[in-house]
Amino acid sequence: MKVLSQDELPAVATLKEMIDVLPEFVCLRYPDGTWAEANRFALNIYGIDHDEYKGKSLEELETRLSYEAIERCSLSDKRAWETRKPIKTAEKIIMKSGRKVMLELIKQPTFTSDGKPQVLVVTGRDITPHKQKEEELSVALDLLESVLKGTTDAILIINTRQEVIKVNDAFMQMFGWAEEDFSEDNDDYPVITPAHLQGESKEIINLLKQGQSVPLHETQRIHKDGTVFDVSASFSNICDMDGKIMGFVIVYRDITSQKKVERALRESEAKYRLIAEHSTDLITVIDPTGIIQYVSPSHLPVLGYEDGEIKGAILEMVHPDDLQSLSELFMRALVKKEPFQTEFRLVHKNGDWILLEARGVPVMTKDGHVESLVTFARDVTKAKQTEELMLKSEKLSVLGELAAGVAHEIRNPLTSLKGFTKLLSDADDVIRLEYLRIMESELNRINDIVGELMLVAKPQAVSFEHTNIQELIYSVVRLLETQAIMRNIQIWVNISDNIPLVYGVENQLKQLFINLLKNAIESMDKDGEIHIKIGTRNDSVLLELKDQGCGIPAERLKTLGEPFYTTKEKGTGLGLMVCFKIIEEHGGAIQFSSVENEGTKVEIELPTAPSSSH
Ligand code: ADP
Ligand code: MG
Repeated sequence: MKVLSQDELPAVATLKEMIDVLPEFVCLRYPDGTWAEANRFALNIYGIDHDEYKGKSLEELETRLSYEAIERCSLSDKRAWETRKPIKTAEKIIMKSGRKVMLELIKQPTFTSDGKPQVLVVTGRDITPHKQKEEELSVALDLLESVLKGTTDAILIINTRQEVIKVNDAFMQMFGWAEEDFSEDNDDYPVITPAHLQGESKEIINLLKQGQSVPLHETQRIHKDGTVFDVSASFSNICDMDGKIMGFVIVYRDITSQKKVERALRESEAKYRLIAEHSTDLITVIDPTGIIQYVSPSHLPVLGYEDGEIKGAILEMVHPDDLQSLSELFMRALVKKEPFQTEFRLVHKNGDWILLEARGVPVMTKDGHVESLVTFARDVTKAKQTEELMLKSEKLSVLGELAAGVAHEIRNPLTSLKGFTKLLSDADDVIRLEYLRIMESELNRINDIVGELMLVAKPQAVSFEHTNIQELIYSVVRLLETQAIMRNIQIWVNISDNIPLVYGVENQLKQLFINLLKNAIESMDKDGEIHIKIGTRNDSVLLELKDQGCGIPAERLKTLGEPFYTTKEKGTGLGLMVCFKIIEEHGGAIQFSSVENEGTKVEIELPTAPSSSH
């Protein structure tokens, strides 16, 4: 406090004048309650007229005090006189402006030397701001208490000596300890930090003491029963008004279950990764925007690319002819959230094309969004080549047999042609014309047969088009008729009206019927009939081929189409396999029914329009 010098003392004449300007309540009252003296502050606050107060009691004066306040005042006055001791009271006064003023008063009775009551000295202060602070504090404390109680996080408050000041209900639940377990004289003082983490804890407290903040971090704590569990912990300082650190608040959240899920996820991910890493299938994970997230190591042996060489570039590796349909399938899988299966070619690092059979599966999040697309692909280049080889060898053998028939067929017209050429020179004009007509028809027959042979032998250009099935059947029948006639077998063809065009590959369909008709002929070791019927069902063309041959045993019917099964001495056992393959590629259906020693019926259904898979 600054000490005033003599010259600076305010110009007040008397002590009374000084008291008058004092910003505190001062008033003297006689034992009968009448006022002796009062300073300006006291009169102002009570709202009393300056001149008229002396010798009057509160009841007689006009004041701001309520009736009850006056009553209280005289009661406390009385008590002060009776007890002969100072008494502290407080009074709330509402000023003219409506402002509430809290007045704290001390009533000090004074006595004459012979012990008679003299005057009551009433002094006091305006404690309104003080009171307000106190109220605010109590509200804040209530709030804090409800936060402590209401939160499911465990809260621990410790002082700088790391003694526990407070824990909340959630803390007790999470750790199993009670508040009183933390009292200083407890011999078995709770330990909540595992031994190996105590160093870490100490470091954190040291950082906090230096005023540094510590980020939220994951650690472990011990329950009273000894189990260690995962928590996330936040640490902060508590400071007093001057910023001095008084203690620390630590908030713990139990993250055991969250950790468990994380761990399980990591483990299962590791498991799947292990499978992917060791699979011979090519596995890729692609996100919905088309970016490659994972490529399995099996890409190296199959495609020749090292780890990391493929990332992002997989579309550039796709054969240009397969690119469009592949990206369409991708989009469809993403939109329809359905798996797909396809074949496409990828370029090997050495430039070869590798044919892959691939399956794509969209992976969904919990809320049904496609998170990624996982594809499994297998190199089927070799398998495809073998299949093609088998097709070819079957074709060759059919061709070989056909050739024998064809040679026989051609020899007859050739012989007659030879005869006619000799006869031509001696014949007259009319007869020569007749000879030439016969010779032309013989030549046409040779031409037809050779043409058919060429058709089957030509490399197959796989082009689907609308094909006239009647003509196709007739040409196949013509091709095999010789064989049939040599065995005394009659072939009957019955075709309904208005048969629509079949959507298919002509050469393949021809091969299909050659194989089936050949089998039918070969199944008959004595004379008989073969009936071919063509009709329609819904949008498809129906073909029926019935023979009167040896038939097929029931247990064999189920496995027809397996390669290399044959009951014939010179058979290949490939014919039916090729048939099934062709039917499959056309999106058609084939069905065998048979009675042993009576005959076999083959029913075929062929589409008239492109199916969705083409
Ligand atoms: P391959 O004719 O060379 O034996 P296929 O695959 O054409 O080979 O036929 C396999 C087998 O199926 C034949 O060996 C035969 O036992 C049986 N088979 C096929 N078609 C008939 C049929 N129409 N009647 C009786 N058996 C048949
Ligand atoms: Mg056959």
